[in-house]
Formats: sequence, C-alpha cells, structure tokens
Amino acid sequence: VLVLGIESSCDETAAALVDGDRRILAQAIASQEAEHAPYGGVVPEIAARAHAERLVPLVEKVLNEAKVGLDELDAIAATAGPGLIGGVMVGLVTAKALAMAGDKPLLAINHLEGHALSPRLADASLQYPYALLLVSGGHCQVLRVAGVGQYQRLATTIDDALGEAFDKSAKVLGLGYPGGPAVERLAATGNPRAVPLPRPLVGSGEPHFSFAGLKSAVLRAVDSGQHRPEDIAASFQQAAIDCVLDRTRIALATMEPVTALVVAGGVAANKAVRAALEGLAADHGLPFIAPPMALCTDNAAMIAWAGIEKLAAGHAADPLDVSARPRWPLDPAAELVRGAGY
Ligand code: ATP
Ligand code: MG
Ligand code: FE
Repeated sequence: VLVLGIESSCDETAAALVDGDRRILAQAIASQEAEHAPYGGVVPEIAARAHAERLVPLVEKVLNEAKVGLDELDAIAATAGPGLIGGVMVGLVTAKALAMAGDKPLLAINHLEGHALSPRLADASLQYPYALLLVSGGHCQVLRVAGVGQYQRLATTIDDALGEAFDKSAKVLGLGYPGGPAVERLAATGNPRAVPLPRPLVGSGEPHFSFAGLKSAVLRAVDSGQHRPEDIAASFQQAAIDCVLDRTRIALATMEPVTALVVAGGVAANKAVRAALEGLAADHGLPFIAPPMALCTDNAAMIAWAGIEKLAAGHAADPLDVSARPRWPLDPAAELVRGAGY
C-alpha cells in the first residue's frame, strides 16, 4: 500500500509518501515561520497564499525523490480539517485534483486523527486501545483510542490549548513566534521553583485542563520586573507539566484498560513534558510511547499514515465534493455533552 499525504491546516505545507510497512519513502515540509514571525502568530490569509504557492512543487518533489508515479499510488490523503479554512482548502483541492487526474481514491483526513495515529506509524508494537494525550497548538485532550475512528474523549481544555499557553508565554517573554521550542530552550537554564505560578484545576475530580490563568500569571510575572526570564520560562513549564500530569492521572483513573500511555501533537516534542509523562506511565505500569520530534509537529507523513489506517480498516474513499471543515471534533459525542468550546 502506498499513500500520498498532504498537510496544510496551519503554517506548515507538507507532502509525504508512506507505505503499509511504515516506511516514509519521501517527505518534504515548508514552514512559514519567516512569513508569520513579524506578526507574532499565524496570519490566515498569508498562510493560505503560501500553501497555494508551495504545495504542488512539494508534491512533485516527493514523487520524484521516491521515483513514484501518480499511477502507483493507492490513495491520496489530505487534511480536510480542523484548521485554518483557507489553508485546508488549498490542500484538499490539490488532493481532489490529483485524485481526479489519476483516478485514485481520495481520503479526507481529520488532522487530529493524523496526530492521534502518528505513534502507530512510529512504533509498530503499539496496539489499540491506548490512552492518548493530544497536546498541540489548538488542542489539549485525553482520548482513549480504541481503533480507527474510535475515539473517546475523557478530557479537554476549558480555555487555552497547551501549545497556545507556550506560544502566549513566549510572546510576553519576547521570545517571538513560534514559541514552544524557544520557551523550552530558555527554561533549560532557569529555576523551575523561582516564580510562584498557579496550577489551574489541579486537584479537581474532573479531568479537564485549563491554562488561561497560568498564562495571565506569566504575564504578571514578566510585568513585575522581579524575575529573570529564564526563571519565568522554567517555572511556567514546570507549572504546565504539573497540570498535565495531575489531569492526565485523573483521566487515566476513569478510563477502561489500555495498552500504553501515548503522547502526540506539537507539544509532545518538549523533552521535559515527555520525561514527566514517562514517569506517569511507569506509575501506572504502562509502556510510554512518543513519536520522534518530527512526527509530533505538523507533517504529512502522519496524514498519509492515517489514510493507510483507514484503508486497512475498510473505510471507503471520500467523495470528490467532500468539504473542508474548520471544526471537526474526534469525539462528537463528547462535544455534545460539553457544548461548543469544550
Ligand atoms: P492542532 O494540531 O491543534 O490543529 P497545530 O497543528 O497548530 O494545532 P501542532 O503543529 O501540532 O499544532 O503543534 C504546534 C504547537 O506545538 C505550537 O503551539 C508550538 O509552540 C508547540 N511546540 C512545538 N514544539 C514545542 C516544544 N519543544 N515545547 C513546547 N511546545 C512546543
Ligand atoms: Mg506550525
Ligand atoms: Fe497539528
């Protein structure tokens, strides 16, 4: 099985070729950091235009590199949401054109499903059902992943995502965009106990997350002029990790049995977060699985892999008029219970 994956939901334009044996035959990724940096965050119109300019050359590049023709593909998988709608449309329309031209099945992939299944691309030993902490720029959730399309959400954030908290803290610390990696670097040289910061919801019996209060406290710490930036970064990262551990522990306690504790999404690239979760998994007697860094942040290999998983599970191709979706929850039932925004 050979699938072309396309990703364009935020600020990385990416294409990748992945086969059923988990081999990434070729991949190419163009980040838009330089375009968005002057604005301190992703500007949707700039993102959509950059995707439109770069995607087709990237697709040609991976096909050429792997010496694969359109006719050799089993399917074309593209992110169809959730994300910035202009960018998602660029990727989905490109995939539709390729599917039509090559008479190949189109697979409309949920970007979050790409993150959720990425650990199985990285590690063939990972079996369903597993507990997943999905921590990215737009999401912070604990899910029980029982199979392709079988996602039970046990926890979510009631305000900011974890990646968003890193990005906003980076901004007030003057570290620029994108903020997560910069905060991690600065935190490595600071004292995580130097600045007293809140741990929102820690101790609560419900497993949900909240980071807005922590973000505001970071802003006050910066404004006070009383602390070294590296101490604020380290203290913020520690507070965030304390929240994640406590909340994930509660979610695990309410979850049916699982084979492993797994982390995915951009923040899973953070070494301190990974180390803390490894300890939590050990406490529960569970193996801990985290994809390599490059599969944590947005990439097209995870989208191709989600397509391969869907094919293997017997999912039919999506119609060529399938829509791009700005919102697309993995567990719509949980969404109904908690209401929009949760
Ligand atoms: P979503 O997947 O929810 O739609 P997204 O695609 O924008 O959002 P990802 O690309 O998965 O998110 O992750 C990007 C986020 O990960 C950013 O918020 C970024 O700051 C954060 N991030 C990346 N590397 C690190 C790191 N080393 N430490 C902390 N955060 C990080
Ligand atoms: Mg990005
Ligand atoms: Fe993402």
